Amino acid sequence: MSSQPSKSAIIVGGSIAGLTTALLLHRQGWSVDVFERSEVELAGRGAGIVTHRDLFDALQAAGIELTADLGVRVEGRRVFDPSGAAVLELAYPQVLTSWDRLYHELRSRLPDECYHMGHTLESVENGADAVVARFAGGSEARADLLIGADGFRSSVRRHFFPDIVPNYAGYVAWRGLVDEGDVTETTRRDIFGHFTFSLPKGEQMLGYPVAGVNNDMRVGRRRYNWVWYRPADEAVELRKLLTDAQANVHELSIPPRLIRGEMIEAMQRSASRSLAPQFQELVHLTVQPFFQPIYDLETRRMAIGRVALLGDAAFVVRPHVGAGVTKAAQDALSLAKSLRNDDGVESALLGFEQERMPVGAKIMRRARQLGAYMQSQVSTQEERQDAERHRTPEAVVQETASLEFLH
Ligand SMILES: Cc1cc2nc3c(=O)[nH]c(=O)nc-3n(C[C@H](O)[C@H](O)[C@H](O)COP(=O)(O)OP(=O)(O)OC[C@H]3O[C@@H](n4cnc5c(N)ncnc54)[C@H](O)[C@@H]3O)c2cc1C
Repeated sequence: MSSQPSKSAIIVGGSIAGLTTALLLHRQGWSVDVFERSEVELAGRGAGIVTHRDLFDALQAAGIELTADLGVRVEGRRVFDPSGAAVLELAYPQVLTSWDRLYHELRSRLPDECYHMGHTLESVENGADAVVARFAGGSEARADLLIGADGFRSSVRRHFFPDIVPNYAGYVAWRGLVDEGDVTETTRRDIFGHFTFSLPKGEQMLGYPVAGVNNDMRVGRRRYNWVWYRPADEAVELRKLLTDAQANVHELSIPPRLIRGEMIEAMQRSASRSLAPQFQELVHLTVQPFFQPIYDLETRRMAIGRVALLGDAAFVVRPHVGAGVTKAAQDALSLAKSLRNDDGVESALLGFEQERMPVGAKIMRRARQLGAYMQSQVSTQEERQDAERHRTPEAVVQETASLEFLH
């Protein structure tokens, strides 16, 4: 008696969403092939990642035993006023990890023969019995299911919904990482045990400790990750920021090394004027600050025949909820669970969509509310109310990087 042939899945995108899905399906007996555009192992996407219980649940289901060294633990949150005094404290234990660490935990568990680098998806044929993916260079793959886990600029999403494009939120996040050993002793004591904030008018600076080089979590070897949200109107400010030294204007984002020195100097001067001294110190110590414009993006469907969209390919939410990675991992978990029933791929995908569309929309709405007060133009009455409701230091410390509203 021959055994049932396993079902097969093509996964486009080999980052957090793609790898989590691949591991979960592989454990369920599926034959999985991940196709990643990059020709080299991925690295360093975003410095620090806030973790939540929901992320640990998905990682555990994917076979990742959680160890105490997944990240740096903080006990609470702290807001500094412009003089540097801690004016608000909140007990809020949380583990802060890094994108690299999560990626390596996932990648090291997937057999190499399932992970194909240097494959850029160009088109999809969503047939009644199978789905076919075609890649740049002419290769193709056929499977029972195709998963678009190809992020913010998803080719899979664009194939089905070319009209859905990122919507600029009106502000950018400047970011940086500083070695613990470079920070003065007073600042080190103020910040390293906490998730910290400084709240200049209409802006938000936050920071938290993360592991140092090679995941080193010893005191003195860690790093501090900071993120500074600042309004930048699209026509003038953002355009200036996205223009490199050769006067090329980059679309959507600019590689850190191409950010003009004068833009960095202007940001540093603003830091000296408006931030708590602890954060001024961090900004000035940062060797290569970079920024990311903040966008919203929302898909209309997560299931299209034999094709599923998940992670950032489906919903890009503003970072205030700290949910991008957790949402991607939970999407993967929901999809894998749905595929366990025997009703066929298309019906399983509809079940997945029914479960995850409302969650994506809810996280998106919440992140918009938390970000409203950073927008350079708050246009509607509702946005103005959101901006007021979520701008107090009490609201900021309680609501930032928290998924409590989902439970
Ligand atoms: C300022 C900022 C702070 C953030 N902070 C947090 C945080 O604290 N916590 C958190 O959870 N999240 C955070 N995020 C969000 C988080 O980084 C993303 O949500 C998460 O990485 C999404 O994972 P993904 O796998 O869906 O997509 P991605 O990580 O974008 O991966 C998509 C992959 O698909 C590949 N790809 C793209 N196109 C193709 C193609 N045509 N063919 C083949 N492969 C392709 C890409 O190379 C990439 O590897 C933050 C984001 C920002 C901007």
